Amino acid sequence: QKFVYFFGEGKAEGDAKMKELLGGKGANLAEMTNLGIPVPPGFTISTEVCAAYYENKQKYPEGLEKEVLDNLTKLEKVMGKKLGDPEDPLLVSVRSGAAVSMPGMMDTILNLGMNDKAVVGLANKTGNPRFAWDAYRRFIQMYGDIVMGIPHDEFEEALAAMKKAKKVELDTGLDAKDLENLVVEYKKIYKKHTKKDFPQNPLDQLWGAINAVFGSWMNERAIKYRELNNIKGLKGTAVNVQSMVFGNFGDDSGTGVCFSRDPSTGKNEFYGEFLMNAQGEDVVAGIRTPEKIATLAKKNKKVYEQLLDIKDKLENHFRDMQDMEFTVQQGVLYILQTRNGKRAGAAAVKIAVDMVAEGLIDKETAIKRVTPEHLDQLLHPMIDPKALKGIKPLTKGLNASPGAACGRIVFTAKDAEEWAERGEKVLLVRKDTSPEDIGGMVVSEGILTSTGGMTSHAAVVARGMGTPCVAGAKGVSVQGKKVVIGEKTFKEGDWITIDGSTGDVYEGQFPLISPKMSKDLETFLSWCDKVCADSVRGNVKGFLVRTNADQPEDAKRAFDFGAQGVGLCRTEHMFFDKEKLIHFRTMIVADTEEARKEALKKILPLQKKDFFGIFKAMEGRPVTIRLLDPPLHEFVPHTKEEVAELAEHLGVKPKDLQPKIDKLHEANPMLGHRGCRLAVTYPEIYDMQVEAIVLAAIDCVKKNIPVKPEIMIPIVCDEQELALLRPRAEAIIKKNLEKAKVKLDIQIGTMIEVPRAALLADKIAAFADFFSFGTNDLTQMTFAFSRDDVGSFMPAYEKLGLLDVDPFKSVDEEGVGMLMNWATTKGRSVKSDLKVGICGEQGGDPATIDFCFRTGLNYVSCSPFRVPIARLTAAQAVL
Ligand code: PEP
Ligand code: MG
Repeated sequence: QKFVYFFGEGKAEGDAKMKELLGGKGANLAEMTNLGIPVPPGFTISTEVCAAYYENKQKYPEGLEKEVLDNLTKLEKVMGKKLGDPEDPLLVSVRSGAAVSMPGMMDTILNLGMNDKAVVGLANKTGNPRFAWDAYRRFIQMYGDIVMGIPHDEFEEALAAMKKAKKVELDTGLDAKDLENLVVEYKKIYKKHTKKDFPQNPLDQLWGAINAVFGSWMNERAIKYRELNNIKGLKGTAVNVQSMVFGNFGDDSGTGVCFSRDPSTGKNEFYGEFLMNAQGEDVVAGIRTPEKIATLAKKNKKVYEQLLDIKDKLENHFRDMQDMEFTVQQGVLYILQTRNGKRAGAAAVKIAVDMVAEGLIDKETAIKRVTPEHLDQLLHPMIDPKALKGIKPLTKGLNASPGAACGRIVFTAKDAEEWAERGEKVLLVRKDTSPEDIGGMVVSEGILTSTGGMTSHAAVVARGMGTPCVAGAKGVSVQGKKVVIGEKTFKEGDWITIDGSTGDVYEGQFPLISPKMSKDLETFLSWCDKVCADSVRGNVKGFLVRTNADQPEDAKRAFDFGAQGVGLCRTEHMFFDKEKLIHFRTMIVADTEEARKEALKKILPLQKKDFFGIFKAMEGRPVTIRLLDPPLHEFVPHTKEEVAELAEHLGVKPKDLQPKIDKLHEANPMLGHRGCRLAVTYPEIYDMQVEAIVLAAIDCVKKNIPVKPEIMIPIVCDEQELALLRPRAEAIIKKNLEKAKVKLDIQIGTMIEVPRAALLADKIAAFADFFSFGTNDLTQMTFAFSRDDVGSFMPAYEKLGLLDVDPFKSVDEEGVGMLMNWATTKGRSVKSDLKVGICGEQGGDPATIDFCFRTGLNYVSCSPFRVPIARLTAAQAVL
């Protein structure tokens, strides 16, 4: 078995396809080497070694040591230098790199190979003693911190003390002798903590570093990061040992991070930042604020043009936006890393659409590249421009992660977590962030930092999470638990608002609004729709996204978001309208059928108006209207005032009304007098609703508005219910259509939300034109989990791992899914063209959408705001 893979001198043993084995970084270093990109040579220890290391009580597999030494010898030969050489030493970096990028979560050690002799050799060879001693002191600090766990701060304090003694502000103000003295201080710190001298043997250093990198695979923050990002099934991290190049060699050296396109907007513009005379950590850590990449053209035109060339080459090769790290050493350019760049939602869509237009990728690839989270971000709130009129921002920083956020200021990740736990909206304000802050960043509405650039930790992590972030805001200065923003001082708990799309920071709270769809997004989603429309499920064409909408405005919004129809209109929501409620209450306490019908007559025109509005908003797309569903219990007057109001309306005494109301009480209303059971006892209710639907549809036809109503009957548990109710509805439809001399096909279907209905789906299908799974009730009744009360025990179930996910968020494939599968198959066995959909709340959940596709459903229906995401995930399910 081979454990180590070499790359260098235009040839590598690995390539980009070997990400599993070499990690993303290692595989791409190999690929770049093969492409002839200037990559410093090195070798990669595979992820299989990491797996073996943990399987075998942190011992390495046999033969690894020899392979590492052989590759080191090869590297030394290629470089013409030896590790620890007193004349001309080789220095290497040791870095982590798993198959999935986990930025900043695992360890890196730079300048390895430095010792008391090598530092002199490097000083002589380069003629730059300051540089050599700086490299040595950085190495001791990193090695001490990362390999030996010595608090980073102790080294920082020694550095600060040195600067103070020398009366200089920047590290660069220290000369070679100062740094040499600092090395003495650093070694003391090392010895104090480890009781040992700083290791002088480079091979000891190398193994110490390799151990630390493999060890960092299981550190707390890496584990947490994998958990948060649902990264599973990886073997471990690889370890990349690579010869060092130096960006801190002087003013003709530098280092930077760049993107082949703008990762925030997606614009096809070379984008990035760099720092002259610095090492990579300085850029990423956000300690110094870097310069825009375009200014590199002025500093070194040749290098800038070479970099442009390379980014084109890499983007064309990988056919995706690249995120690259580079270093310039004495005017020579090296590429240290490339990977497909993380991007904000807007950028993801724009890059996908542009790359199709440029012929780089096809539409299928484009659809696969955009994630539900990207769209979620794109549909993020922005500050209502009306509320912003005439208001000046306190300050402006970098627009690091788009979207607006309001929250109360907190200064530490820990406080953020505590406040959020109490239900507070918090905004994390910091100088900069580091990987330990991840927990606090997750719960924050937004993040504001005073230092660091677009590639600082805060910016990268916030973009990934879709959390609005303003970074590197120069007008922000954090002082303990106070912060000065612009000219004002704020304390913990004060409200501020940030706009991560513009970089602006405002005092106080602002109303946020949801954005409209962009042209690119519409183009992109139209490709998704095409994929979905062409798919055949059962005998019926299309796997479509509908919406749950009860009001014309909701329907209109969903239509604008691209809904292909209404999958569920809950008519009871109309009854809760004050005007209708009084008539409805009159109806339910009526003593006679006549009185009931009288009350219903008042409701009919009101319902008809709502139906008309929804039909109109949907412009001829199917609209499924569900007949009344909830138990009457929910409609009875509850308070004294309500009873009095109804009594007055009826012209009776409250005390005479109360017994009737009491009689309507149910112990188990969700299993009680609801759904089609209401029509079994009071058929006039459904009669009225069906009539209102037909009349609204007839109005549409007469006004030349295309219309396609579907009537849906809820809580069915036996085909006999439909055998009773369906002909009654059909008769009303027929009568009204004939009277109006209008021809219209109105389908009548049923919800499948009672387990018995799912089991007997073949019998039920004989009376239904379509099925729609009401997975809220189906989940409730399959689990016997009350949908209104799960909150009291579901968190415990999730925490203990009794259930992977809350089945009310994502359909339980194993149980509820089995019923859905059975019902679909059984239903289609008697009616091959049976249309089947889902309208429970899970219909907007990506995993559920994928399951629905696999089960052969024809549509999913979700809330209007989820429609764009559902269109994407539906297409991804099809592909
Ligand atoms: C359902 O049960 O899934 C459903 C859509 O109906 P409701 O939520 O109105 O009970
Ligand atoms: Mg239901």
